[in-house]
Amino acid sequence: MDQNPSIRYVLLEETHHIVDLETRFKAYIVWLILNSKAEKAIEMLAEHSEVEKPKLTVGLPKRHKTNVLGCYSAREKTISVLNSDMLRNPSIIIHEFYHHLRIDLNHKHRGNERNAREFAQDYIDAYKALTNPKQDNLAP
Ligand SMILES: [Zn+2]
Repeated sequence: MDQNPSIRYVLLEETHHIVDLETRFKAYIVWLILNSKAEKAIEMLAEHSEVEKPKLTVGLPKRHKTNVLGCYSAREKTISVLNSDMLRNPSIIIHEFYHHLRIDLNHKHRGNERNAREFAQDYIDAYKALTNPKQDNLAP
C-alpha cells in the first residue's frame, strides 16, 4: 500500500542479481584455486574485500604448530601453506585469507576458527551450487 508494486519488484530483482553475482564470485574463487591459480584468487579476494593483498608462500614458518596445513602471519601479512598441493585446496587458502581479512580490517583480531571455517565453506558451497545445481534435489 505504501510502496509501488513495480518498484518493489525491481528491488527484488536487483537483490536477486546481487546475490547471484556474489555466488558466482565465490564459485570462481574456488575454481581458480582448484585450477592452481591461488595467487590470482588471493588477488581477487583482496580486491573484492578492499584490503591489501597478502603474500602467499609454500612452506610453513619454522615455528608453527604441528599438523597444520596452512597458517597466516599477521606480522608478515603472509599466508603459508605446507606444500604445493595445499595451494589447490580452497578450504585452506580461503580459511587463511579470512584471518588476513579480519586483521586487516580491525588490526588486531584474527577472528575465530569457527568463523574462518564457515567463511571458507560458504565459498565451497557456492562452487558446489553452481557446478552441481541438481545436487540439492537429490538430497533426502
Ligand atoms: Zn585458522
